[in-house]
Amino acid sequence: MFIEPSIRTTCPYCGVGCGVVAAPTGPVTSAIAGDKAHPANFGRLCSKGSALGETLSLDGRLLHPEINGARVSWNAALDEVAQRFAATIAEHGPDSVALYVSGQLLTEDYYAANKFTKGFLGTANIDSNSRLCMSSAVAGHKRAFGEDIVPAVYEDLELADLVILVGSNTAWCHPVLYQRLLAAREARPGTKLVVIDPRRTASCEGADLHLPLRPGTDVALFNFLLGQLAKDQSSEAVQAARASSPDLATTAQLCGVAETDLSQFLAWFAATPRALTLFSQGVNQSSAGTDKVNAIINLHVATGRIGLPGAGPFSLTGQPNAMGGREVGALSNLLAGHLEWDQPGHVDLIRAYWDAPNMASAPGRKAVDLFRAIGNKTIKAVWIIATNPAISMPEAASVREALRGCETVVISEAMREQDSVDLAHIRLPALAWGEKDGTVTNSERVISRQRGFLPPAGEARADWWIIAQVAARMGWARQFAWKSSAEIFREHATLTGLANNGRRLFDISGLAHKTDADYAAMEPTRWPVPASGESTARFFPAGIGAKLVPTPFREPVRTPNADFPLVLNTGRIRDQWHTMTRTGKAPRLSAHLPEPFLSIHPNDAAGVAEGSFVRLDAITGHAILRARLDPGQRPGSVFAPMHWTRQFCPEGRINQSVNAEVDPISGQPELKHTPVRISPWAPEWHGFLLSRARLGADLVEWCAIIPTAVAWRHEIAGTEPAETEFVRLRDLIPHPGAWITLSDPASGLHRAALVQDGVLQR
Ligand code: SF4
Repeated sequence: MFIEPSIRTTCPYCGVGCGVVAAPTGPVTSAIAGDKAHPANFGRLCSKGSALGETLSLDGRLLHPEINGARVSWNAALDEVAQRFAATIAEHGPDSVALYVSGQLLTEDYYAANKFTKGFLGTANIDSNSRLCMSSAVAGHKRAFGEDIVPAVYEDLELADLVILVGSNTAWCHPVLYQRLLAAREARPGTKLVVIDPRRTASCEGADLHLPLRPGTDVALFNFLLGQLAKDQSSEAVQAARASSPDLATTAQLCGVAETDLSQFLAWFAATPRALTLFSQGVNQSSAGTDKVNAIINLHVATGRIGLPGAGPFSLTGQPNAMGGREVGALSNLLAGHLEWDQPGHVDLIRAYWDAPNMASAPGRKAVDLFRAIGNKTIKAVWIIATNPAISMPEAASVREALRGCETVVISEAMREQDSVDLAHIRLPALAWGEKDGTVTNSERVISRQRGFLPPAGEARADWWIIAQVAARMGWARQFAWKSSAEIFREHATLTGLANNGRRLFDISGLAHKTDADYAAMEPTRWPVPASGESTARFFPAGIGAKLVPTPFREPVRTPNADFPLVLNTGRIRDQWHTMTRTGKAPRLSAHLPEPFLSIHPNDAAGVAEGSFVRLDAITGHAILRARLDPGQRPGSVFAPMHWTRQFCPEGRINQSVNAEVDPISGQPELKHTPVRISPWAPEWHGFLLSRARLGADLVEWCAIIPTAVAWRHEIAGTEPAETEFVRLRDLIPHPGAWITLSDPASGLHRAALVQDGVLQR
């Protein structure tokens, strides 16, 4: 147990991977600043990063192991997990169990989970919520480069003469990189910025050109540039590109952009060797996500704009350690250390290295398929670690039903108040940010230390420790005998050098001999770091060694129709993170956009007024949201944030409505393209309730809970008569004090205050 004066660690939110200096001021409080020495941010932090100190309280934490809701000892909980997984495998075989993990995990935790599942449980049914985030980038990289390689680095932002953002609201989702871009443009005013996105987002402010393309047509747009600019017109990829996008007029019409704008983009790209294309979830979260990634890479490879200072395709990862998960192979179709299922000898290499008695021999199920297999009872035991699939998966209601019907649901989690935790039979308290110790890798391949600076909350333990304890109880104590995250890191680093000799670019075997003290003091380090000491910052200079991949254009799987005429796009907002378990605690973060909303172009509003409620319907679900009429929204499409949960606004859960169509190669779901319809939702009444205690969000028909500096604000609305709801609500709330009420039926205004011992409570 320790409380140091000041610790250098890494932000737990996005894939920028900013360095943070934390100075604890108490057991659950800390001053936070950007780390000036960290190469990702040089001292900058965004709003989420700077509010980290406000999210450390133990409110809502899972503090003790539980079985069926009852507190138990760690021994009892670990025995129960081991016994249930062993019994399920004995009766139904290894593919009847699964792990579903997270880009929030540290690399060491990820490594432990992957080793446990693929080497010892005997199944490759381990997938990560990174599947929803960047698996199309992984698949695209592997097709083009033969390996999951990001060829560029952040410094290229400062060196590029043309920066292109595709499907990336960088200003909100990777804010510190956007700040670096703004600073670079200020220093070199000639640097052009082009944004390709159906929405006019905050990232478009100051852009030289915005191409508001029709959703799903990115491949056609990049194919057009490839067809016009590729020197070698004979390749299969260029032929395929020219077939879908033969000329300016056809492409502009297909993509729904002005010919002059497209022509301008073509001219700038053609004239600018130092062109950098940053892409993110708007590209990846698509039923053609892998082709979109390859269409972007094709253009850079064919024109030599890659692997050189200021030039290249650049995938921005969403989560803090999506890259670490890829490195340890913790997706069902990957193997550890960038080894491959289908390469002769690779599975055996890992089997021997791990001394694994039950090494899986083939890829497992990807996230959407995995939860469907839980739903149809093919998978009978699942262990969820550090993620919330009951909210974040597409068609989330059926995922919830699947978990509800599953024989064994185990969850390792820092938070008690979380939708998926509610559905678990066994709950294992995990360390949160500020308590954990290990490494993460950011979008530019820089490995940074996350260091603990707070004592563990309650009985919470490290995720790797929990996995190792279960493995030991299942008979594999020797192979999981780690005493520290440093030991796991050394094992992982050694694995990357096995039979490598330059065959795999991901090689950190040069870090395998770090002592515990070296590991504790490790500075941010970009891979590769091979034992030979030879390294490089960028890969595939001028395209040498990279492949062009044919990317014929195709429409999204589900397209708008008479019943569902609009396209729903989902994404993040500036000040919230994932399912709000941390950022939802900070009043200043919730002040930015306090309620779940739907952005609608005024032409599509159809009777829905600004600030009113709007009902969204899709085939799989519905949501009720606040309408924001936004001329920056492309007509025919709407946008909703993905953050709200049952704890914060049950009717704001958008992923119930999102379709679960997937990319056929990457398995990544099409979270950006669901046909929907909208209509006004006209409640009988609406109001707000301020309370010192947080009340349930299921109090009334529609409720959004918002933290403020002094109380919890509950925005509420309903379709029952106001008078009866007013009385029902008052009686529902436990109130030892006295209510003072004021009702005016003529105006429809009802007010009430609860006073206890002379203090206003509600
Ligand atoms: S940009 Fe990302 S990593 Fe950096 S402070 Fe913000 S959320 Fe954290």
